[in-house]
Amino acid sequence: MANSDKVCRACLNTKDTFEYNFRVNVCHELYLFCTSVKVSLNDNLPKSICSTCYKLLNSYAEFKKTCIQSNQKLISLYEDKQRDTVEIEVKVKKESLDEVDDIQDNLSSFDDGTKDRNEPRY
Ligand SMILES: [Zn+2]
Repeated sequence: MANSDKVCRACLNTKDTFEYNFRVNVCHELYLFCTSVKVSLNDNLPKSICSTCYKLLNSYAEFKKTCIQSNQKLISLYEDKQRDTVEIEVKVKKESLDEVDDIQDNLSSFDDGTKDRNEPRY
């Protein structure tokens, strides 16, 4: 393995110098947030990040934050809706029960009509 100062921690590409380093300008908490990889500053593993991975890290951090915020919004909206829906359902159920009564009335009169019509007439 090459000198850990010359290896990108994320993609393992090698470079002589890196612009980004966990000791200097990369937040290891952000890296943990995005990758679930815990970077310790006290071990011998690479602390550098190449510019490509740094960009990916930031894009992904934004994406993940957006997803989390959207999800929280959706959950709170859904909870509000669920409360409304319960009230609406109760209303609808009562109405559809009345409707079923009407339909049954219509059906019985319809049945009588058909019976008469189907009976052979001499
Ligand atoms: Zn990289």
